[in-house]
Amino acid sequence: MSGSESRAQAVHQITNREPIAVKKPKSLEKIWATDVFTLVKMEEALSKKAYKAVKKTVETGAPLDPAVADLVAAAMKEWAMSKGAYYFSHVFYPMTGATAEKHDGFIITDASGKAITEFNGSLLIKGEPDGSSFPNGGIRQTNAARGYTAWDPTSPAYILDTENGATLCIPSVFVSWTGEALDKKVPLLRSNAAMNEAAQKVLKLMGEKEIAPLNSSCGAEQEYFLVDANFANLRPDLMLAGRTLFGAEAAKGQQFDDHYFGAIPERVQTFMQDVEIKLYRLGIPAKTRHNEVAPGQFEIAPYFEAANVAADHQQMIMTVLKTTAKKHGFVCLLHEKPFAGINGSGKHVNWSVGNSTQGNLLDPGNTPHENLNFLLFCGAVIRGVHLFGPLLRAVIASAGNDHRLGANEAPPAILSVYLGTQIESIFDQIRDGKIDGVDEGGIMDLGLSQILPFDKDPGDRNRTSPFAFTGNRFEFRAVGSNQSVSGPLVAMNTMLADSLNWIATELEAELNKGTDQAAAVIAVLKKLMAEHGNAVFGGDGYSAEWHKMAVEERGLKNIPTTADALPALKSPEVVKLFDETGVLSPRELESRFEVYAEQYVLSIEVEAKLVVDIAKTQVYPAAMRYLSDLAMAGASMSDMGVELDNRVAQTVAEQSNAMMSAVSKLAEAMEKDDFASEEEHMQYCANDIRGLMDEVRSHVDALEKEVADELWPLPKYQEMLFIK
Ligand code: ADP
Ligand code: MG
Repeated sequence: MSGSESRAQAVHQITNREPIAVKKPKSLEKIWATDVFTLVKMEEALSKKAYKAVKKTVETGAPLDPAVADLVAAAMKEWAMSKGAYYFSHVFYPMTGATAEKHDGFIITDASGKAITEFNGSLLIKGEPDGSSFPNGGIRQTNAARGYTAWDPTSPAYILDTENGATLCIPSVFVSWTGEALDKKVPLLRSNAAMNEAAQKVLKLMGEKEIAPLNSSCGAEQEYFLVDANFANLRPDLMLAGRTLFGAEAAKGQQFDDHYFGAIPERVQTFMQDVEIKLYRLGIPAKTRHNEVAPGQFEIAPYFEAANVAADHQQMIMTVLKTTAKKHGFVCLLHEKPFAGINGSGKHVNWSVGNSTQGNLLDPGNTPHENLNFLLFCGAVIRGVHLFGPLLRAVIASAGNDHRLGANEAPPAILSVYLGTQIESIFDQIRDGKIDGVDEGGIMDLGLSQILPFDKDPGDRNRTSPFAFTGNRFEFRAVGSNQSVSGPLVAMNTMLADSLNWIATELEAELNKGTDQAAAVIAVLKKLMAEHGNAVFGGDGYSAEWHKMAVEERGLKNIPTTADALPALKSPEVVKLFDETGVLSPRELESRFEVYAEQYVLSIEVEAKLVVDIAKTQVYPAAMRYLSDLAMAGASMSDMGVELDNRVAQTVAEQSNAMMSAVSKLAEAMEKDDFASEEEHMQYCANDIRGLMDEVRSHVDALEKEVADELWPLPKYQEMLFIK
């Protein structure tokens, strides 16, 4: 079958597909967290004393007695087996950002050969996957490959129920034999502890008597594309690289703004419901769903949770989206930029910190100018973004996200912070030394008798900022759709810990001078704003003026590519930040740089190979067939005495030649392997390799517009984006 026939067949299959039925649950309660070993289930299964011990660990992170772990293990096994699970798995989150699992059976045999099951505290607490195949950035030599997974009781165990059977999944950390972090969870837990410690100091100085442990919260909005599998399977670039490496723009893109919040297509809605049912069973509070800006683009957002649990849940959401899409005949694309020229996908990470005694410390309340705790914590974030902007850029750096940042409707690669008019004006006043007054939201009265008046927010939203205050939390909007949220959460918690430590020192000095509390807070924040206020920006982050002003007047950095961004992980400030807060040792941090740099290089190498392959084996043959068709038509017309205009043939020939010479240059460039450093290798990929890939693409896309549609082998943008 020729490429074009397969395209036609794909359309046929899509239009004639049988809809998939999704069995709707009777009620939310019937399915909510049925597959999770929740505290409620533990309470039922454990003695009062054991349950109290576990609960304390879950809620405060206090250490758990190994004897209690034995009891939990027994109860967990019982529960899992009652749900049909005969296998368990420590689930962990290696530095690649993926989710990893190794399955072990509960089964063992006794002396008589009878099968019995076994699962105890030590099996629950510790696993030992053959970890040598996970990237470790030089922390572990392959000859010393031991790595351990260890149970994280603060994130609940659950059952993953697939067509292939049920498995008890135990969220875990992953460390080397030396105890060094090899994963994304260890630093997240440590960053939370560092933030808690620093916050306690500040709150104590503020005279708070009772201070519960602080935790960070996260609500992550996940954007994704759905493409029918019949099309995706015909695109090696989508299947292997997750994005289209070629594709001319469709006649209709997103210019009508008719997709955003539009009616959700029926087939997609069925898919979404299926996803939600699965997530509810896993205790993941999926809350919003809607169409996104680009055709074929959608979003799902769960209700926010404790950062550590939210991060684990976020990984599951990505898995559930992908597996459920398959069942519905879609491919779910989590790549940050699957299609050139239209919106990419992000993952806005909403983040706040709080506890049960002081509440959300980023909630300004009705009188923010009098809410000193809020002002201190908000100030701490401003300082963090200013001092560690390059770190925030580094933790969202990936080959995929580079295509999105600074492009269509995505935040720029300059880290600034948006506060909203009300809070910005308070911090402006603090900068001048005194708070005079504050804007209020007020009431929205539309003057329509049938519409009830409602409260208006004190400030508008700013969708152009990479890091925005949105009323009671910050929203890190530059995170990529395919990324783990852990890296960004670690960076935010850690920079906050550093700022709160600084604030504690300054505040203590002021208070020791005998300054009253409010004046001391203003004095500290005034100093903070003088040094770091430059990071606050409320204007249009997409504008060219801002790009110029940010760099030239404000001294902020514009960091366009991953190759430019990742070296921040080696900068003395960042090494010191992580070392002093105890979140990552210099060696652990260095290993992260190595792993991320390698991943970047590998991604671009895979793409470059695909560019060469597809251009040579699919595009060039199609162009040649078209040329020979044109030549034949020309010859037979000429026999009849009619000369055909040969401009099309000329263009096709020229573009084909140019494409093949760009392909040769790219293939040759890919041979180079003598790099002095990872930094140099990344720069080579970012500039030379990507430049040549773009060159090939420009010719392929030009050919797509010339070659007869029926000969074109690759599904086109209009097909993939609009046919559902
Ligand atoms: P929008 O698209 O308007 O930004 P959404 O409702 O899609 O908002 O997503 C907002 C996310 O922020 C949700 O996951 C929500 O639960 C989360 N969120 C709300 N309050 C907080 C908070 N205090 N801390 C962290 N996340 C929060
Ligand atoms: Mg949002």
